[in-house]
Amino acid sequence: MYNPTLIHHGAVDGVTGSCHQYFLDDQHSLLIDCGLFQGIEQGRGKAGADSAQIDFPLDGIRALLLTHVHIDHAGRIPYLIAAGFKGPIYCSKASALLLPLVLEDALKMGITRDEKLINGFIQAISRQLRPCDYNSWYEVEGGPQATQIRFQNAGHILGSAYIEIRHQTPSTHPDQQQGWYKAVFSGDLGARDTPLLPDPTPLEDADLLVLESTYGDRNHQDRKQRQQRLQQVLEKALSDNGTVLIPAFSIGRTQELLYELEDIIHRMKGQAIHQGLTWQQLDIIVDSPLAANFTQVYQQLKQFWDEEARQKLQSGRHPLQFEQLLTVKSHDDHQKVVQHLAGTGRPAIVIAASGMCAGGRVVNYLKALLGSARNQIVFIGYQARGTPGAALLQHAKNGGELKLDGETYPVRAEVLQLSGYSAHADQQDLMRFVSQMHKAPAQIRLVHGDTAAKLELKRKLEAKGHSVVIG
Ligand SMILES: [Zn+2]
Repeated sequence: MYNPTLIHHGAVDGVTGSCHQYFLDDQHSLLIDCGLFQGIEQGRGKAGADSAQIDFPLDGIRALLLTHVHIDHAGRIPYLIAAGFKGPIYCSKASALLLPLVLEDALKMGITRDEKLINGFIQAISRQLRPCDYNSWYEVEGGPQATQIRFQNAGHILGSAYIEIRHQTPSTHPDQQQGWYKAVFSGDLGARDTPLLPDPTPLEDADLLVLESTYGDRNHQDRKQRQQRLQQVLEKALSDNGTVLIPAFSIGRTQELLYELEDIIHRMKGQAIHQGLTWQQLDIIVDSPLAANFTQVYQQLKQFWDEEARQKLQSGRHPLQFEQLLTVKSHDDHQKVVQHLAGTGRPAIVIAASGMCAGGRVVNYLKALLGSARNQIVFIGYQARGTPGAALLQHAKNGGELKLDGETYPVRAEVLQLSGYSAHADQQDLMRFVSQMHKAPAQIRLVHGDTAAKLELKRKLEAKGHSVVIG
């Protein structure tokens, strides 16, 4: 049995820095994703502290295949280009529209604020982009072996895909027959019933399945009641006014949240949260230029929305653009809003990035809001080890302090975590993704998960008779 070589340059012992090199033969390979390390995983890789640097040779890499545009899957692309990668970058059509926004943001954060440089860079990358339709096979340019790829909807964020790679196996002996081999990289798989997005497309078959395992040891609870719980949490939080801060990824989570909030406000039309405040008077603030730009592109790409979202549009509703929604773009406005909210206690819901509080505008809100019991911090997403988000959840249990930018802040605000809103498939979803295949894969390799999650998912899959390898 043919056994292809696979090198993981990230997201093998943890969940960030996704980058896998898949060898088609001894010399030729494909790169799947090129993401940044985050949190405790930042010091990983041979490059040590400067883990963004590309620390592997680029010879023979025919193409980069991108599953989706989250920074932990796409954030190292500028470094890849800087290291000399000139090959094509294949991704879904929606990802091709979203990627320049992500990279512009990443460049501004980490490399340069020079607009001219950034524009030149984005244009250069655009020439390397090869946007692909879902569910269509494409021939990978260059290289000696016939190699085809297909993007399938992964239901994780707009444009997200799992990628099927079909190629001729190298013949090790002149007489040996060449055969076809199919490897599939799951990227990040979405959970069922994600707001706004269709469920992942079922995978038919694969010889090798490289599967994410973020929630390999857990199931999301109460997915059906999650909107109700969101509403309850918000009503309780707002009962003494103050600010509800929701740290969220600009890409995907922010739009899902807006979609849910619009639905709550629509249902609760005319009803009061408490005396003196109705749902319709409540300010919903998205404080992130990137999130605002993304929301715009999400609105343009309605063809990728799920059935329910499109029906709402038809009935005249605007799930991502409603009346009380305020977007903060400039840094000056951002500072004013932070001060205003901290000073007045005016009730508001603020959505700001980053989702794990590792940087971005959410940090300024935390500094200003953590000290008052009137405010709430509501986490809806995964908090990677070593991030301030994870620390805050921990401190919330013990009561305590949080270090931000070297300074200590007392935590008096209530810190809550809402489950059921994960953008990742849970254990049941992952098991179903495998079980619904027409033919079991010869091998499953688990990546993108903490050790406990991988071990538990491995045990579950093996109990169903699958051959499973970790990493
Ligand atoms: Zn992702």
